[in-house]
Amino acid sequence: MSEQHGRVALVTGASRGIGRAVAIRLGALGYRVAVNYQSSEAAAKETAEVIRGAGGTAFTAQADISDQDEAKGLLEAVAKELGPVEVLVCNAGITRDNLLIRMKPTEWNDVIRTNLSSVYYCTQAAIRGMIKTRFGRIVAMSSVAGLAGNPGQANYAAAKAGILGLVKSIAREVASRGITANAVAPGYVDTDMTSSLPVDVKEGIIRQIPIGRYGMPEDVAHAVAYLVSDEAAYVTGQVIAVDGGMTMQ
Ligand code: NAP
Repeated sequence: MSEQHGRVALVTGASRGIGRAVAIRLGALGYRVAVNYQSSEAAAKETAEVIRGAGGTAFTAQADISDQDEAKGLLEAVAKELGPVEVLVCNAGITRDNLLIRMKPTEWNDVIRTNLSSVYYCTQAAIRGMIKTRFGRIVAMSSVAGLAGNPGQANYAAAKAGILGLVKSIAREVASRGITANAVAPGYVDTDMTSSLPVDVKEGIIRQIPIGRYGMPEDVAHAVAYLVSDEAAYVTGQVIAVDGGMTMQ
């Protein structure tokens, strides 16, 4: 993949896990990276430090992307610091697992706002600039739960499936403007989000993964790096599952 000299990339939720790996990968490829976080300031600074240590450019930007005004402010802050966002990776996400029968409205609403509405907020705030320059790359983090559903995750699966419809609609709206919009659907990836699963549950999951292991954040980062590259100009409205073969058909 060719080096992308100086393109501005915003990765939401880049303090930890998959977002961190995406930010570091894009930094290594020559993007100037905005590392967004909500509350993990030290971890976000460490991500930016890793990028700078490898000779890249990075800056940290605190914002709660589940709030539309904060999401708008984030895009403005990045534009002021680095220039208009050309590559937007909507990665930030949370889980609030519960069986549907017991799911509280706050568990439903928090997950929908953080995992789905945030993609609308950030994309809307970024897209005008992309249309003006006739270049843009949007990648949103879905999940195998959005493809197949998952017991205990009706809220999460609904948000992640919603991302697919949202991304495909955006892709159709701006396809003629040099802007692509795609989704990545990771399977089980070794991050804080999955670390609290009991060992027997983890072993059961691994038995369902043909490749026989959890994904690493870097496995997902490579797929994102492809989708945002110049080489992926003809790929839009797609979902790439990075799941060790879990959902192959
Ligand atoms: P993680 O380790 O829990 O990290 C979540 C990241 O999102 C953190 O950087 C966190 O920031 C940020 N974040 C959460 N709420 C936010 C908000 N309101 N505003 C801004 N940032 C916010 O999660 P992960 O496993 O890397 O997951 C990343 C994405 O991949 C999520 O969308 C997740 O649903 C998806 N995914 C993960 C897996 C998996 O197995 N891990 C599988 C499929 C899909 P702070 O550090 O500041 O809290």
